[in-house]
Amino acid sequence: MPESPYDRLVRLLKRADVIGSALDVLQWDEQVNLPPASQVRRADQLSALAELHHRAVCDPAIGEALAALEGDSRPEGDAQKAAVARARRDYERATRLPAEFVAAKAALDSQAFHAWKRAKSHSDYSVFAPFLSRQVDMSREEAGFIGQADRPYDYLLDKHDPGLTEADVARLFGDLRQQLVPFVKEIVARGVKSRRAELKGFSIAAQDAFLRGVVAKLGFDFERGRIDVAVHPFCSGDGADTRLTTRFDEDDPLTSLFAAVHEAGHGLYEQGLPLEHLGTPLGKPVGMAIHESQSRLWENQVARGRPFWAHFEPGFRQSFSSRLGGWSSEDLYLAVNTVSLEPIRIKSDEVTYNLHIILRFEIERRLFAGEIAVEDLPEVWNGLSQELLGLIPANHGVGVLQDVHWSGGAFGYFPSYCLGNMIAAQLWYAALATLPGLEAEFARGDFSRLRGWLRREVHAHGRRYDTHELIRKVTGADLAPDHLMRYLKERYGSIYLPATR
Ligand code: ZN
Repeated sequence: MPESPYDRLVRLLKRADVIGSALDVLQWDEQVNLPPASQVRRADQLSALAELHHRAVCDPAIGEALAALEGDSRPEGDAQKAAVARARRDYERATRLPAEFVAAKAALDSQAFHAWKRAKSHSDYSVFAPFLSRQVDMSREEAGFIGQADRPYDYLLDKHDPGLTEADVARLFGDLRQQLVPFVKEIVARGVKSRRAELKGFSIAAQDAFLRGVVAKLGFDFERGRIDVAVHPFCSGDGADTRLTTRFDEDDPLTSLFAAVHEAGHGLYEQGLPLEHLGTPLGKPVGMAIHESQSRLWENQVARGRPFWAHFEPGFRQSFSSRLGGWSSEDLYLAVNTVSLEPIRIKSDEVTYNLHIILRFEIERRLFAGEIAVEDLPEVWNGLSQELLGLIPANHGVGVLQDVHWSGGAFGYFPSYCLGNMIAAQLWYAALATLPGLEAEFARGDFSRLRGWLRREVHAHGRRYDTHELIRKVTGADLAPDHLMRYLKERYGSIYLPATR
């Protein structure tokens, strides 16, 4: 029997994806293992493979298969129809960008990254501004190639989270901001004393062993994945080979633990996607916000909760025998859930973190609406920082220059972090409502029911639904910030504002 157009499409997509996965492994290796003098060789390998990957993704045979599936050979069933629609979207986005544009963008990314590093280390925004300006222009140009020149920021948001618009995010963040800013003020005014800074001299070998035990208990499959060390922790690869990283600090054992749990949440999503559809739209993640919801749910709702610590606290104490002698369980719980206002996003807690993202969204939105110019960013940043966090960063290095994202032109990406927090909370309450007794199981070290539920409800669908559709399908309601506020008030209200409990 001749190969059907759908089977042909799947074969071509899987082939392109395999090349992409080889790129992933090389990039992972660059962050984890690469000897410093081997970087040039690696850059050559990556660029050769990237070219091959781009050619496979833009293979005209994919276009032909898609045309057949949109014409006489309509696919069977809703899942295949959705897969074809997603593949069409990817194909258009890959083929509409001219090769010269892609090459110019890659060159700019590299120059802008180095300019950003210099600018950040000298706290000198003027070094970075011309490159940022060109990145904004190129993002507008890119939106134009895709046919969205009139709504570039919508295009940039949708690029990371299919179906998401600026109007959606503005409404969600506006609501959240209104509720969150006064809540943070109230918490900070209470000034509960955390002993977190006293955690010093924790053996890295013991930290490593402990967090591996935790990640295994959560259900990460070490037969098709591993954990290593990287300066900036990340998760890469796919469900067939999932690479997690964390970083260690003897004087901060909680950061390494939560980084590992966070990345394991991403890894559990990848490992939960249906392997038989690996490399096709039905075996891939929906987008950044849903991905982030998975990491945040395990990191925050689960691993910062009392039931989790009821189970892991004895082992944590035992791993670091003499270090927690004078500590009560409550001291430890408060150290895990310390809230403080920081200028730097990646050092902030899960409550104030959202304000850092709202700040970046406001800047991106105004920038692409033409309301502000690249030169205005430091001033706008400091003004928003004062409004939202009540502080002005000491210098631009810890202010407007703190994050790498904009140097790579990754606009529209930041919102997915805060949306991930909202989605995590919304999924959490849906899970609690359908799985009674869930937290009692956590206290016994059993996380399998939550993992199974996420697999069934979220992971099993791959990209069949877009962000909004999936949330509606799983929780029965539209994405809303109220669930996140309810969760933050329950958890942090009980610690910081016990009278209002
Ligand atoms: Zn993440």
